[in-house]
Amino acid sequence: MSHISEIFGSSVFNDSVMRERLPKATYKALRKTIDEGLPLTLEISEVVSSCMKDWAIEKGATHFTHWFQPMTGITAEKHDSFINPTEDGKVILEFSGKELSKGEADGSSFPSGGLRATFEARGYTAWDCTSPAFIKNNTLYIPTVFCSYTGETLDKKTPLLRSMECLSKSAIRVLHLFGNEKVTKVTPTVGPEQEYFLIDKKIYDRRKDLIFTGRTLFGAKAPKGQEMEDHYYGSIKQRVSAFMKDLDEELWKLGISAKTEHNEVAPAQHELAPIFTTANIATDHNQLTMELLKSVALKHGLVCLLHEKPFAGVNGSGKHNNWSLSTNDGQNLLDPGKTPHENAQFLIFLCSVIKAVDEYADLLRLAAGNPGNDHRLGANEAPPAIISVFLGDELTKILDQIASGGDISTNKAGKLTVGVSTLPAFPRDTTDRNRTSPLAFTGNKFEFRMVGSSASIASSNFFLNTTVAEVLENFADRLEKASDINAEVSSIIKDVVKHNGRVIFNGNGYSEEWVAEAEKRGLPNIKSYVESIKCLLEEKNISVMEKHKVFSRVEMHSRYEISLEKYIKTINIEALTMLEMSRRQILPAVISFGAQLANSINQIKSCGVDADISANAELLKEVTSLTTQLSKEITLLDKKVSEAQEATHDSYAQAMLYRTGVFAQMGSLRAVADKLECIVDSKLWPFPTYADILFNI
Ligand code: ADP
Ligand code: MG
Repeated sequence: MSHISEIFGSSVFNDSVMRERLPKATYKALRKTIDEGLPLTLEISEVVSSCMKDWAIEKGATHFTHWFQPMTGITAEKHDSFINPTEDGKVILEFSGKELSKGEADGSSFPSGGLRATFEARGYTAWDCTSPAFIKNNTLYIPTVFCSYTGETLDKKTPLLRSMECLSKSAIRVLHLFGNEKVTKVTPTVGPEQEYFLIDKKIYDRRKDLIFTGRTLFGAKAPKGQEMEDHYYGSIKQRVSAFMKDLDEELWKLGISAKTEHNEVAPAQHELAPIFTTANIATDHNQLTMELLKSVALKHGLVCLLHEKPFAGVNGSGKHNNWSLSTNDGQNLLDPGKTPHENAQFLIFLCSVIKAVDEYADLLRLAAGNPGNDHRLGANEAPPAIISVFLGDELTKILDQIASGGDISTNKAGKLTVGVSTLPAFPRDTTDRNRTSPLAFTGNKFEFRMVGSSASIASSNFFLNTTVAEVLENFADRLEKASDINAEVSSIIKDVVKHNGRVIFNGNGYSEEWVAEAEKRGLPNIKSYVESIKCLLEEKNISVMEKHKVFSRVEMHSRYEISLEKYIKTINIEALTMLEMSRRQILPAVISFGAQLANSINQIKSCGVDADISANAELLKEVTSLTTQLSKEITLLDKKVSEAQEATHDSYAQAMLYRTGVFAQMGSLRAVADKLECIVDSKLWPFPTYADILFNI
């Protein structure tokens, strides 16, 4: 135990290091900047940078990097060493305030969606002092935002920070009306649960699809899948457990509070959950966690797959984004609380989420989407693509009762009116139904369960933060004008139930009936990621993002282009990999097998014995017929890819061609190849099968 407390945060320039090492006045000024979002002066950063450098060098660092999160979804870094040559041919180690607070990166190769003209390829990085610097691989990492020369955002951190700011402002207005005058800051808190697969590196190396695309593009089901439910929460195998131990240490050093680890539903699948923290640190930490999962796995001869659907036929991986709101005086605003007063405040915050989710469901759908998650959403292992909110029966009943103007009775004796009496303690709903909900209220937080395992959680959170901020602002306007706050609270709840209650659904989200019911309720069911991207151009969405200064119109447009481009590139790579594997690996193998069968028939015949060769002949017929089919499907895929590649006039149309033409044809090709896998001599099959991959560790 003492070991853990020793290593926890040991590589982080965190609050206690700052307090210990910085001059008192500098510490105070920096703290103020962090807590109140004040601008950082060069004087402060000069002192901080020199202190940070000494600390980093003591810990063995030789380089520093501005670490940022471009729209590729992963992180980027450019390393500079601390050395500075002196006239006498030696070097001194330097790190200036300017180097800490601002950097320049040639950003021309990062996606910008047309924001940056080629003549102005420079991008700037600026220190986000609300997320602590840390040391990894002998390098001092400085978390930064990334923007263009003209100030447009080119990353995922800037909008997140902006969204946290506007959310805090709106929430404070509401809190002050409830008499919480001391609250000066409200912060969204996030705890992302991360799912992943671990497979053997030697086997991985023999599959081009895993190497190029992170998922298997071919593969018949193994005789055993997840049906025995023997993996879920099963005992953790030694090799995996050694990996987890190592991973925990690495995470703890970086101050990432990895807490829970267990086996997941599918064979070779696992999950890791940290303790929640502020949204931007949680986002940084999740990016680091994904990197470390991969790098620590390699040390153990394993490969960590973060793709949403690495294997067909068994569950894929997601990320549950647990989200709540916390005040600087320690209140969780989504905790029902014990006093009537707290209850009314809770209901207002609860309703703000319900309304935001209903009115901006398309943005959340978009945030959860990526090419990989298209395999999962709505496929009975992850929530459907329809956004709904699970509240549980108890809470739903209370909202309905307030809406119908009746007395609010509790399970126990006694009546209750908002703000006058107490709400019952809500039992935490642990039924399976909330597992099928995209956004489940789980007692004191919302769990957004649609996010893909490989995705950055930034966008889920900045859309959630901004839209909730918008609703809270609207509530604050109403409450500030009201003569009777209690009556206005009731009236707000009534309005939300009436206008947005359609988004509340406590039933089984995986059922067919829900799809029909949702349609009746008028809830959007955006089936594919490509279709969801269009919502970035919707006027209501642009205006809410503009109003809260999270995105400008131009920035929304650039994200639209980037998302489409990413989709196009992903499917293009997958299709080319399929063509390569099927032409150069599968076809030769099945042709050899056909020849082997033909030879066997000829050999038997030449013996002159009157033997029965019907089985050989049947198999030969089947193999050759499937081989012909395979070849046709290959030609067709090739054609679809060319068609899509040429359709460059309009990126949306092109992405749709990849979706309806290329992606669909990939499925047809796979089906034939998988049939062949089941009948071809295993010694001839050119790459490891699902059985080899999933049951190997
Ligand atoms: P459950 O059993 O409902 O999944 P857990 O307590 O295991 O809940 O928490 C799951 C995740 O939710 C963890 O990462 C945890 O840190 C996070 N979490 C808990 N409370 C909050 C909160 N107030 N805000 C954000 N995340 C939270
Ligand atoms: Mg969960």
